[in-house]
Amino acid sequence: PLVLGIETSCDETGVGIVHGHTLLADAVASSVDEHARYGGVVPEVASRAHLEAMIPTIRRALKEAGVSASDLDGIAVTAGPGLAGALLVGVSAAKAYAYALGKPLYGVNHLASHICVDQLEHGALPEPTMALLVSGGHSSLLLAPDITSDVRPLGSTIDDAAGEAFDKIARVLQLGFPGGPVIDRYAREGDPDAISFPRGLTGPRDPVYDFSFSGLKTAVARWIEAKRAAGEDVPVADVSASFQEAVVDVLTRKAVRACKDSGVEHLMIGGGVAANSRLRAMAERRCEDAGITLRVPRPKLCTDNGAMVAALGAEMVARNRPASDWDLPADSSLPVTEPHVPGEGPA
Ligand code: ATP
Ligand code: MG
Ligand code: FE
Repeated sequence: PLVLGIETSCDETGVGIVHGHTLLADAVASSVDEHARYGGVVPEVASRAHLEAMIPTIRRALKEAGVSASDLDGIAVTAGPGLAGALLVGVSAAKAYAYALGKPLYGVNHLASHICVDQLEHGALPEPTMALLVSGGHSSLLLAPDITSDVRPLGSTIDDAAGEAFDKIARVLQLGFPGGPVIDRYAREGDPDAISFPRGLTGPRDPVYDFSFSGLKTAVARWIEAKRAAGEDVPVADVSASFQEAVVDVLTRKAVRACKDSGVEHLMIGGGVAANSRLRAMAERRCEDAGITLRVPRPKLCTDNGAMVAALGAEMVARNRPASDWDLPADSSLPVTEPHVPGEGPA
């Protein structure tokens, strides 16, 4: 199926077009620069930027794919979770296009999209797939027997998300926003064993599949403050590498453990933090040692984009899942257990 997907859950206006598992277009307009001076995403600024970028980005995607809107089999849109006002722009645009073109509308889950996008990279997702979803707002281990209808949370962060921890540490180091890519770059020049930072929730009595990054964040911030108080230079590369190592160590350890415990042979890593080079390398090594097949999409497909939404929408069409109703709501806290928002059909 030929599907156009619209993503506006945070600060990226993404429009992607796929044909089944084939990526035809991936147009992204980001308002990240407008948020940088506030050190985080400002919801009102994001909504306004989506409004301005929406139609030009849809046109750009159609042009890039070389398809005509009338050929589409459906229009998919992120219905949640995310920023309410930002989601509303995408949902409204999707409804308008779908209604005007006479095409079915599929409201899909942003988190399931972060997983399903890997079909564009490595073909059909094995069933079941274990997913480590690590992004700016989420860090979870999910068992996905069927990405269109059955996604089961095994564990998640009890405080900060992994991406949030990267962003906060970058802020303490005054490296700007978003922090993940900068820390990733600095870490390449640093020693991951230079400083021993805590690995949250890895004790014998701790929950096996949950994560915690706020203790790590505090430990790193305190370490930096102590250096500054002593009038010493902060070794940015070593701090970045050691902090990153602590995050990545816990993420990969728990993901491999989840696969082994559940007898699942395929691990996929998705979400913005999956773009992290050290996470990719360590996951590769640990999965190989454990006999697990690892799937991680290229970095551009890990951060928010419209192609991932189109990928999940195409899967909904392929599996004959019911389309959404015209009164599809934007649901800022749509649970991951609902990969899409099926309609109730004509009243
Ligand atoms: P969610 O998907 O939970 O709604 P989001 O949409 O804001 O959150 P994504 O776009 O999926 O998040 O990911 C953004 C996050 O990924 C940011 O916190 C950013 O710092 C982080 N990130 C991006 N690249 C890297 C990298 N190379 N290393 C570590 N973190 C990264
Ligand atoms: Mg973003
Ligand atoms: Fe995301």
